[in-house]
Amino acid sequence: MALLEIRISEDETLRKHCRPVGAVDDRIRTILDDMTDTMRHTPNCGGLAGNQVGILRRLVVIDVDGVQYQLVNPEILSAEGEQDGPEGCMSFPGIFGMVKRPKRVKVRALDRDGREIEIEGKDMLARCLCHEIDHLDGIVFVDKISRRVD
Ligand code: ZN
Repeated sequence: MALLEIRISEDETLRKHCRPVGAVDDRIRTILDDMTDTMRHTPNCGGLAGNQVGILRRLVVIDVDGVQYQLVNPEILSAEGEQDGPEGCMSFPGIFGMVKRPKRVKVRALDRDGREIEIEGKDMLARCLCHEIDHLDGIVFVDKISRRVD
């Protein structure tokens, strides 16, 4: 097990675009497991993206209501509806704000064995998927806050 350092606010890595993963091999699985360990050991952490831990690859881990996901090359296939709610981020401690997100999203990704999967997320899972996939494109939630609530 390895805990990774989470990059904070002005770290330029958070603004970088993450590259797709070619082959899901043991090295990628180790990174996913280290990201999952880091998420589990960070209080109130609902997810992490590769560049948040200094790895510029399209990797995401998510924990919503105790259900954990490890996603490689996730992409949003479709989005429906809208929700507006409070959001935070491990890379921006102490900042919370209202962010509009789709109510439901369908996401395609590879799992830790390199198999293609599709996830349908609604409510909090939809919010987390959008937040983490934004990270992979260098987009952070503070760009999308309509109103601070911290
Ligand atoms: Zn975040």
